[in-house]
Amino acid sequence: MIVVMEKSATEDQIEHMVLRVEDLGLKAHVIRGAERTVIAAIGDKREHMKESLASGSGVSDVVPIMAPYKVASREVKPEPTQVQVGSLAVGGGAIGVIAGPCSVEDEEQIMSTARAVRAAGATALRGGAFKPRTSPYSFQGLKEEGLKLLAAAREETGLAVVTEVMSTEDVEMVSNYADVLQVGARNMQNYRLLEAVGKVPNAVLLKRGASATMDELLLAAEYILNEGNPNVMLCERGIRTFESHTRFTLPLATVPYLHNKTHLPVVIDPSHGTGHTSLVPDMTYAAIAAGADGLILEVHPDPEKAMSDGYQSLNFSQFERVMQRSKKLAVAMDRVIAQASEIAAG
Ligand code: PEP
Ligand code: MN
Repeated sequence: MIVVMEKSATEDQIEHMVLRVEDLGLKAHVIRGAERTVIAAIGDKREHMKESLASGSGVSDVVPIMAPYKVASREVKPEPTQVQVGSLAVGGGAIGVIAGPCSVEDEEQIMSTARAVRAAGATALRGGAFKPRTSPYSFQGLKEEGLKLLAAAREETGLAVVTEVMSTEDVEMVSNYADVLQVGARNMQNYRLLEAVGKVPNAVLLKRGASATMDELLLAAEYILNEGNPNVMLCERGIRTFESHTRFTLPLATVPYLHNKTHLPVVIDPSHGTGHTSLVPDMTYAAIAAGADGLILEVHPDPEKAMSDGYQSLNFSQFERVMQRSKKLAVAMDRVIAQASEIAAG
């Protein structure tokens, strides 16, 4: 149920309705919009609940939430959510660009990449310290050492750090170093992990599982939101289809579809979505044209020598060119690529 408060509702009235919702054994999420405040009452329906809540003072209406996901839905919060963490802003107009290597490999690699992507206009640095690899014999990441290198790169460049967390027991450690916790495609339905990242102050980049439906993605986001973390970005990174010429199939209709269903910002990953460096620039432009709120791109100083995903990584000059063209394209679409205005000089 959504308890829609009147525009003139006071803080006391809102607080009182939160208590009434909780007294019914439901969880109350207060969502303060530009126009009015609503309280999403989540839990099992009770008899006469609607009538009981509708009688509260300051209440304008009580309506059911039709979507299976509740706090994530546009019904509950019509205004788009902007996620703002340090230098990175995603959603609410400007397009945030997250760039960096698939894996953090060594100091020189991550530092030089951070400087290069920052100079080209990225507003966040990506890099995996914990890597989910198909084979147990592949490079698994530098783990805490990698997190330290990412933190050092943020220290120097001011770029917010986005990195994956693979298990619940690592959430606390990763959250101490990173700004944004990435939940990878393979973990999109790891519900205990989703709950754990819902309890930390960091923003979360939730990647779509390679065979997950839109409803499953939104319900996964709901797990995080339901724990009280409102800073969730959804990421389309390609799905598995019969097509084998690209690593995954990148469905860009995801962007307008999700914009219609949810207030959460949508980030596109053209690197994993295509699996080929040569396809990344055009799919980046297509993502901007489709209305993406953010982009996440793999960039490596020497992709041929990368320890993971080199075949889909851009080198520095390729990334710079993609950024230049993206800036022009964004303007043509009445949008802008977010500026790193908040980044400390470095
Ligand atoms: C990554 O971002 O390097 C990654 C492993 O992504 P995904 O979870 O989308 O495969
Ligand atoms: Mn990768």
